[in-house]
Amino acid sequence: VNTSLIRVPKDPNRSLGIVASIEDLTEMKKLETMRSDFVANVSHELKTPLTSIKGFVETLKSGEVEEEEQRQRFLGIIEIEAERLTRLINDILTLAEIESHGKSDKEASIDVQTAIESSLDIIRPIATAKNIQISVEVEEDLPKIQGKDDWFKQMLINLLDNGVKYTPESGEIELKAYTQKGRVYLRVKDNGLGIPKADVDRIFERFYRVDKGRSRKVGGTGLGLAIVKHAVRSLNGHIEVKSKEGEGTEFTANFPSDKGQ
Ligand code: ADP
Repeated sequence: VNTSLIRVPKDPNRSLGIVASIEDLTEMKKLETMRSDFVANVSHELKTPLTSIKGFVETLKSGEVEEEEQRQRFLGIIEIEAERLTRLINDILTLAEIESHGKSDKEASIDVQTAIESSLDIIRPIATAKNIQISVEVEEDLPKIQGKDDWFKQMLINLLDNGVKYTPESGEIELKAYTQKGRVYLRVKDNGLGIPKADVDRIFERFYRVDKGRSRKVGGTGLGLAIVKHAVRSLNGHIEVKSKEGEGTEFTANFPSDKGQ
């Protein structure tokens, strides 16, 4: 904090204003640190696959790899790394878009049932490939939620996708949507790996992963839950998580409905 800004004012009634400005500065500093951490993380995350792609392309170009099988293996790695870059760039852009739009569109409203169906269309094939059952229970005639449909779907897809990624083969995911006290609730529960107690408070942070290697292996970018957090915020909702290592994880989000309380 710049000391010249915290001089005690002659007029004692003005001291409140000074306190606020110190708090503003602390907040600004925090935001600045978050921003520079994010830039450092993004560059690291982007450079890793690029370095690997460049390395394998150079090796292939040199003509030193004679066996066709080996060449195919290298091409496979290049493809996987390029896909990772695509996912990463898409997630960075989605996060930037949700953040820059602030509070969502007051004119738009979300039909929860339809949004759930289209999110499931995307996730079901991935779940089926791992023999994971998704059971769905949606209350009839759910009221609408105000906000942008795309962000609601993105949130739900990310939660379900994590359920599939962090649940072993033949696991189960439960999706429930219901109303309580005039709010619309959405719950995604899995019986997968769970999250250790020490990590659970940090999982909504950008690029925070409990196990980096595992996240990488299942195609994670570390941005899924940061996107969820911002999407929920843009829909004026709340989200919480309960988890037990080795037993499973449950995310519950709730939103104001157009019927109000
Ligand atoms: P990632 O792309 O790594 O999945 P996310 O932001 O979506 O990033 O999630 C952050 C971390 O939280 C994950 O790396 C994982 O360790 C943990 N996590 C998220 N969802 C679940 C879940 N359903 N079960 C267990 N762990 C989870």
